[in-house]
Amino acid sequence: MPKEGMAETVELFSSEGKGRGLKAVKELWAGDVIFAERAYAAVVFDSLTHLVCHTCFKRHEKLHRCGQCKFAHYCDRTCQKDGWVKHKSECTVLKKHGKAPNENIR
Ligand SMILES: [Zn+2]
Ligand SMILES: [Zn+2]
Repeated sequence: MPKEGMAETVELFSSEGKGRGLKAVKELWAGDVIFAERAYAAVVFDSLTHLVCHTCFKRHEKLHRCGQCKFAHYCDRTCQKDGWVKHKSECTVLKKHGKAPNENIR
């Protein structure tokens, strides 16, 4: 995975009325990474909800299930704790609703 942030091949500029933009300062080739950023939000595919950790997305044989909603799965307590901030609101809704909506809605 490329490092987060901008490569030294581009610089940031702002254009009045149009907002910010990136300008190439070196010759770029197809496939060059010029900008990388962490995902703002991510969900596990419906087909994988029982197979991968919902925090780090690693595949595991044995996952711990969230005791509240029985939907979220995690490698261990550490991943569950890390994911809780984001899962908290989802967990409450899942408990109320009884089942998880599909990946597009989540
Ligand atoms: Zn994990
Ligand atoms: Zn939960």
